[in-house]
Amino acid sequence: MSIIDHAKELADLIKKYNDQDLYERIVTLREEILSLREENLTLKDKVKKLEVAKEIANKLVRDGNCYYMIDDKQHDHPYCLTCWDSDQKLISLIVSQARFGKTIKCGVCSARKK
Ligand SMILES: [Zn+2]
Repeated sequence: MSIIDHAKELADLIKKYNDQDLYERIVTLREEILSLREENLTLKDKVKKLEVAKEIANKLVRDGNCYYMIDDKQHDHPYCLTCWDSDQKLISLIVSQARFGKTIKCGVCSARKK
């Protein structure tokens, strides 16, 4: 039985004794529990996202203005430094051959790298 169920059960019991003040306090307590439970879920979600970001950060290496996965020895797949550093979004960069060498561009923040 969850804490919410306990509070509801308690509210039902108190209702039988017709004590309005006590009943209202239990109802308020139940609302506070619901609010805390919602906050707890939000915090768990944030912790999970931070753990995932930390796991990714441990695998990234910086070379110039790009990030690469540590196991990408040839640096074939660059990721955007700006997007990762500002929002922890791992965005693949668009690499194209130009007249004077290759250009690298981020499709999200439009940052150009070399
Ligand atoms: Zn970017």
